[in-house]
Amino acid sequence: MQVPLLVNEFLRRAALLYPRKLAVVDGERRFTYRELEERAFRLASALRGLGVGKGDRVCILSPNSHFFLESFYGTSFIGAVLVPLNYRLVAADHEYILNHAGVRVVLVDPDYTAVVDEICDRLGTVEHWIVAADAPLGRAGWIDWEPWIADASAEPPPAIELGENDLVSINYTSGTTARPKGVMLTHRNCYINAYSLIAHMRVAHDDVELWTLPMFHCNGWGGVYALTAMGGTHVILRAIDAERIFTLIELEKVTFACMAPAVLNAILQYPHKAKHTIRTRPRFTVAGAPPPAAFIERLETELGWDFLQIYGLTETSPVLTISAPDHQTEKADWPRRARAGVPAIGVDIVLVDGDGNPVPRDGTSVGEVCARSNVVFEGYWRQPDETAKAIRDGYFHTGDLGVWDALGNVNIVDRQKDVIISGGENISSPEIEDALYQHPAVGECAVIGVPDAKWGETPKALVVLRPGTSASESELIQFCRGRIAHFKCPTSIEIVESLPRTATGKLQKFKLREKYWTGPRRVN
Ligand code: AMP
Repeated sequence: MQVPLLVNEFLRRAALLYPRKLAVVDGERRFTYRELEERAFRLASALRGLGVGKGDRVCILSPNSHFFLESFYGTSFIGAVLVPLNYRLVAADHEYILNHAGVRVVLVDPDYTAVVDEICDRLGTVEHWIVAADAPLGRAGWIDWEPWIADASAEPPPAIELGENDLVSINYTSGTTARPKGVMLTHRNCYINAYSLIAHMRVAHDDVELWTLPMFHCNGWGGVYALTAMGGTHVILRAIDAERIFTLIELEKVTFACMAPAVLNAILQYPHKAKHTIRTRPRFTVAGAPPPAAFIERLETELGWDFLQIYGLTETSPVLTISAPDHQTEKADWPRRARAGVPAIGVDIVLVDGDGNPVPRDGTSVGEVCARSNVVFEGYWRQPDETAKAIRDGYFHTGDLGVWDALGNVNIVDRQKDVIISGGENISSPEIEDALYQHPAVGECAVIGVPDAKWGETPKALVVLRPGTSASESELIQFCRGRIAHFKCPTSIEIVESLPRTATGKLQKFKLREKYWTGPRRVN
């Protein structure tokens, strides 16, 4: 007799095994697993009281918080579908997503109620507005979370018929390119992804995870489920602040964190590392964008922290490949190799050329990364045409380009749309960025293709200098020439104040390109 794989089981199990164990630290508030489960039950009952049932969409718009964590379980206990919103989007995007998803209830952090108020008249399906604050705020039109759940039952909600193919969330994609698409994830997708993280990241009951990635982003790369399943402690970080990160690692004895390269950069540049006494040796997972090799080396040598990398997409729940030091038999070039990863258990990856044929595993042939697995999503919400474009021949087509190395790693070369084609040669922008990051003055950089009369396009680097340093354009170009082939070197460099990024730290290269390309070919 088979039982369906439901993520609800994770919190139930942790509360049973570790009722008095610390489940969440969020500023002044701390909850044990029994308390976390009780709060999730109350939320489930309170939502039922509003008429929310199986398949109904409930959205949350909030930075990381204990409310966010409770929402994942409070909704799934009654079979509702959580729609986490990216808080960096503007009101018009929220309006589009809420209407597109047909959301009935919105759960909103106090800092974001004004954005929702702006669009409330145009939200056709929203019936109830909840403000997620620790103390009642009494805002007109809004229900305060705490009194609302205090009045609701703390008992498990009545059993409903829920299958592993039922949706648990619809995660709208981060929008580095066009309009967000709603990625439908099922209980099975998230369950299997949690298992994969537990196995490959060795998530255990004594782990204390710092939430540096936003929870709205594909369940914070799966941590909501994996860490809860094992009964680890969630330490919530609301906004990226290096001082706070170091303080929390020190005080809460953090053992594990998942972050984007931009956060890693903030950590490496933090000037007061020495004032913190850190007794744990945290494992840092970098996800969501290619981590520069120079950062990985510094993380290990300057801080002595372990590094792991995961690659994946919202559409794959998200983990597809994993890279850990012990995977590698040859450690010599680990920082460079760390950029690649072996397929996670249960993931079948093929790299295909333009004609759809698998490319050889020869270390040089580039192909689009395509995946087949239980973590691959159900499709895009109400967009069957987009789904059919993405899932073809039984594989999900990621739009990323990769190369197999001799050890069976997939090395992500670039996003298909970001590859620079200069004089017929394909140039990987992360390779150039990697070279630039080795220069001591380079704090952040992005390489894009810009129009060129002779070559069609040519690499241009936009560089943010580290505070108190300087470097000229010619010096940086010269520096690259010492490290990568001439044809790959940037032909121009612009020093800028900052780079546009998504909330998950991804560079929005299309925004950088806009200035240089007027035709449609390159703007996205
Ligand atoms: P999202 O769905 O917002 O997570 O975006 C997924 C995209 O992020 C992928 O298609 C990749 O282009 C990029 N990405 C994620 N992880 C990595 C990684 N470890 N290395 C390189 N690119 C990555």
